[in-house]
Amino acid sequence: MAVPVSQAWTVASYVLKQKFTGRKKYPLVLMLEPLFRCNLACAGCGKIQYPAHILKAELTPEQCFKAVEECGTPMVAIPGGEPLLHPQMPEIVAGLVARKKYVYMCTNALLLKEKLHLFTPSKFLSFSVHVDGEKEHHDFSVCREGGYDIAMEGVREAVAAGFRVTTNTTLFDGADPNSVRRHFDQLMDAGVESMMVSPGYTYDKAPDQQHFLGRAKSRKMFRAILSNRKKTWAFNASPMFMEFLMGKKELTCTPWGMPTYSIFGWQKPCYLLQDGYADTFKELMEAVEWSNYGTESGNPRCANCMVHSGYEASGVNYTFGSLKGLLQTAKAMFMGSYTDPDAQDLLNKWEPTNHGPLVQIGAPQAVVVTTSVNDKMTSMAGD
Ligand code: SF4
Repeated sequence: MAVPVSQAWTVASYVLKQKFTGRKKYPLVLMLEPLFRCNLACAGCGKIQYPAHILKAELTPEQCFKAVEECGTPMVAIPGGEPLLHPQMPEIVAGLVARKKYVYMCTNALLLKEKLHLFTPSKFLSFSVHVDGEKEHHDFSVCREGGYDIAMEGVREAVAAGFRVTTNTTLFDGADPNSVRRHFDQLMDAGVESMMVSPGYTYDKAPDQQHFLGRAKSRKMFRAILSNRKKTWAFNASPMFMEFLMGKKELTCTPWGMPTYSIFGWQKPCYLLQDGYADTFKELMEAVEWSNYGTESGNPRCANCMVHSGYEASGVNYTFGSLKGLLQTAKAMFMGSYTDPDAQDLLNKWEPTNHGPLVQIGAPQAVVVTTSVNDKMTSMAGD
């Protein structure tokens, strides 16, 4: 089982309750961003481009608890920034666990080993470690040589200490499906509970705009990666979301499914776009013109989006929306190896491509990496 039975039961009961009460728009996971500060400068993310006074700002534990109580989701993901840089993160996590929320603390794990003693293992807490691929790919993706080794050391320490550990892999154009499949083997061998994979989103603040995947490319890549699945792999994403990634199912975005709360307030309309902020969750739900978002809306910013934060809730909603959805999900969970000779052929013939130049963010000593991930990285930003 990719998640503990108690968590699956809690989420299923919550969703069924929303359905039975006729609530059409309900949130599933709160994306709680307590800070934007980070100890990495990934070219596919623009969060650390905020000015210094914003990067210094943090949510207090009380603000975090209020946001959780306002929206009432059974699960809370804590991205950032790097949450382990928040001095009160242990207090925030403990408070969420005390409220029986299933917490996924998203971390690049650079500080995980040294901060592990500040947390207590619990079925309500999972460290969701950001690892974008095998060593060379991950280091290239996060623009930090040695980042993979540190992250995996953190994973192993956390697993050994009895914590739930999951992983979060973001893929960009140029990812090699064969390498991603080897990466899955390595993660499961390291003892992670389950893995999540998603295409990167075209953040307009991200310095590297060339390597985001269009929808057709995404589907081809995910079909190659996720077909002919190994029994040893476990995923912590909705089976219907994964079928959507593979091009086996059409889903429409659920932008309210993972509402985002940060130092600015409730972000309109989703985790990725910033069309203003609301002071309360109620105001967010009422003030956003939701029909302006999602691929079907024609909004160009949504055109290529297939990300987890937009479509995971859609997958869950599909599952609980009909008997057909429940049966398809059960089949995917218990018989879902997705045997597909054509996808195997795709894998056999896949030619790894060069990523090309990768831009580094900000720091004065930063340089532009001019080699590909398939070549040795010869110049990296120092820090
Ligand atoms: S399609 Fe993507 S960018 Fe558009 S609203 Fe949904 S999650 Fe946000």
